[in-house]
Amino acid sequence: MSARSFLNDKALVLTSGGQDSTTCLFWALKNFKQVSAISFYYGQKHAKEVVVAARICKKLNVDLKKIDISFLKELVHSNLFKGTPDVNKTHKLDASVPASFVPYRNLLFLTLASAWAGTIGIRHIVMGVCETDYSGYADCREVFIKSAQKTLNLAVDFKELGVIIHTPLMRLSKAREFRLAEQLGCLDFILTETLTCYNGIEKKHEWGKGCADCPACELRAKGYGEYKRKFLKKSNRI
Ligand SMILES: [Zn+2]
Repeated sequence: MSARSFLNDKALVLTSGGQDSTTCLFWALKNFKQVSAISFYYGQKHAKEVVVAARICKKLNVDLKKIDISFLKELVHSNLFKGTPDVNKTHKLDASVPASFVPYRNLLFLTLASAWAGTIGIRHIVMGVCETDYSGYADCREVFIKSAQKTLNLAVDFKELGVIIHTPLMRLSKAREFRLAEQLGCLDFILTETLTCYNGIEKKHEWGKGCADCPACELRAKGYGEYKRKFLKKSNRI
């Protein structure tokens, strides 16, 4: 179904102050009548993302619900939590998975977002997951999102308020995501306002803010370089 069919509906966007979720916020603002947001503090090293998410929502005049689920770090392993070793390693539980992976995080996020969405009468949920640059995060795959939507709707069996999960970035490379931001008219905003860095460092670069060293910064810098080469070649490249 085209997103154009949803212009009379409201959407709830999961937001972290990063490139992906902020691009989704702009996408939702274009495709839905009204947009709300939700963000989670879960004991992550880059807790600044919650502050950045609030700043971004304020600038975009979007209501933000902030939820503390820092108990998660008592239950699962991840080097994304404060006080843990470097994220540039493999996961303690499985060497094929990045150390930054937080098991069950997206399932928990979607469950809590669905709970809040139902409470405020919203059925459309927007999440910035992507399987194109898949780096071992099983809960960013389309097969997981579809399954989660089915499970969430089976869990309540609401006839009118079942959730519909939208993932506009699912099949986009980082370069194409920058292109989408350009098309949505928010590329400058993405480059100057968002923070994707696992270390929460706000040092400015051509591709945005970050430490330039963590996997998230590396992916972003590489994607921006590719965006420039592929999409800015003939038009407004300086
Ligand atoms: Zn970084």
